[in-house]
Parts: sequence; C-alpha cells; structure tokens
Amino acid sequence: MRNNPAYDPTDPRYFDETDLRSEVERVFSLCADCRMCVKFCGSFPKMFDAVDSYCTDEKYTEVDAKKLKPQDVNQVVDLCFQCKLCYIKCPYTPGDHDWSIDFPRLMARGKAQQVKQKGVSRGDKFLGNPDWVGKIGTLTSPLANWANESRLHRRFMQTLLGIHKDKKLPPFASKTLASQFSSLRKEPQGEPTAKIAFFSTCYINYNQPELGTDTLEVMAHNNVRTLLRHASLAQRRHGCGNRGGAAECDEFT
Ligand code: SF4
Ligand code: SF4
Repeated sequence: MRNNPAYDPTDPRYFDETDLRSEVERVFSLCADCRMCVKFCGSFPKMFDAVDSYCTDEKYTEVDAKKLKPQDVNQVVDLCFQCKLCYIKCPYTPGDHDWSIDFPRLMARGKAQQVKQKGVSRGDKFLGNPDWVGKIGTLTSPLANWANESRLHRRFMQTLLGIHKDKKLPPFASKTLASQFSSLRKEPQGEPTAKIAFFSTCYINYNQPELGTDTLEVMAHNNVRTLLRHASLAQRRHGCGNRGGAAECDEFT
C-alpha cells in the first residue's frame, strides 16, 4: 500500500505530534534495515546507535522503533543540515516507491515541530540571518577574524549561541562579491553565447568571493553575460524550522 506522509506544511497532520511520531517510527525502522546513508552525516549514525542500543533484542532481530527515546529522535533531527544527499540516494522516495520516504522533509518537519514547541533558538536566530552576520563580518573583517580565533571569544560564543568553540569558522573577506561584481563584470563582445544568473551563496559573497570572481572570469572568457543573484536566507531559515521567517524572504515565494 502506498504511504502518504505529511511532508507539506499546509497538511493538517504536519504539526500533529502523534502523526509525526508514528511517521518517525515507520521511516527509522525502514532506514535501520537499509543503512545505506550511514556515511552522509551525523543523523544516520545517531539513529542507528539508538536502534542498536535499545530497539533490538539481539543482532539482526526486528527493530522496535516504538522504543526510540524522544531525545534521541531530537538529536537525529538536529544533526540534519538539509543537504538532501540521502534523498538523492534513497530508492524509496515518493513517486518511486510505495514507502514514500523523504528523509530530509521528515527532518524538516521534526525541526518545525521543535520550533513550534520551543521557539527559534538564539543560535538559529543568529545563524538564520547570514546576511546580517556577513555584512558585519566583512565590515569589521580584521577584528571579526581575530575574534573567531580567540579562545576566550569562542567560549563566549559557545555559551551564548551554542556554536562549539572548536568548530572551524570560515574567515570573512574584506570585500563582498556583490561590491566587486559591477567593476569586474565584462560586457560580452557582440551577441553573448549564453546568459546566466549566478546564484552566489552567503558563503561566496562574504567569505570566499574569489570563487565568484573566478567564475566571472571564466564566463567573460566564454563571452557569457552574467547576472548576480543572491539566495540562501530563506533556505537557511527553513532548515532551522523557522517557516515564518523563511516565508518573509522574497526569494522563497
Ligand atoms: S533514507 Fe532511504 S536509502 Fe537512506 S537509509 Fe533510509 S531507507 Fe536507506
Ligand atoms: S539531508 Fe539531512 S539526513 Fe539527509 S544526508 Fe543531508 S544532513 Fe543527512
């Protein structure tokens, strides 16, 4: 029988705790039998550790996902950063298989429910506004980069925002890609061979603009007209479960 999980936030079941829990149990027990995605991120190893520790009586016996502790499920959800790799690899996705597994959307649903219950965390509010962080970071890049290397400051950030003190953070550039784009872009000679929109992420714009400037050079060499577009804010907020904040972004509509 084809499953019909509530992956759409407008579905009345989307925020139903009981429905979400039974969907988690269904999908986690199928994943525990498959295990193909174990290498992609922290979510799957965390799930399999929990399953192996207390959801099976002995090795190779049936998984009882009803035993999963809510705190372990929450950690699986927290460890997903919405890269979508498991969706690409999974042979059981909606439309391709009756099991209709869309693991990233299940994680997004779990995160949205956490946010509905507890609100957006301070760290996710901060990281969910990468344009603001990027603007301040590039404007004050020598100071910001020094602070990100300072043990004392990193301990403060860990306490305040939950960003681990040992997490390697990318340095801020002194000039954004957007501020250099017009002066670096070369108009095509005659009719362009193609027109492209280059979607710079916040990372390229604020942290490594040389990836964008190199792309511009390659496009100019091939007589391609390039426009700059910037879209990552809505995706970032969506990934944090902040659906209201994501819907406020133009590029999300
Ligand atoms: S998401 Fe699909 S491929 Fe990945 S472990 Fe689960 S069932 Fe297997
Ligand atoms: S979408 Fe989430 S769960 Fe799937 S591989 Fe990426 S981080 Fe892991």
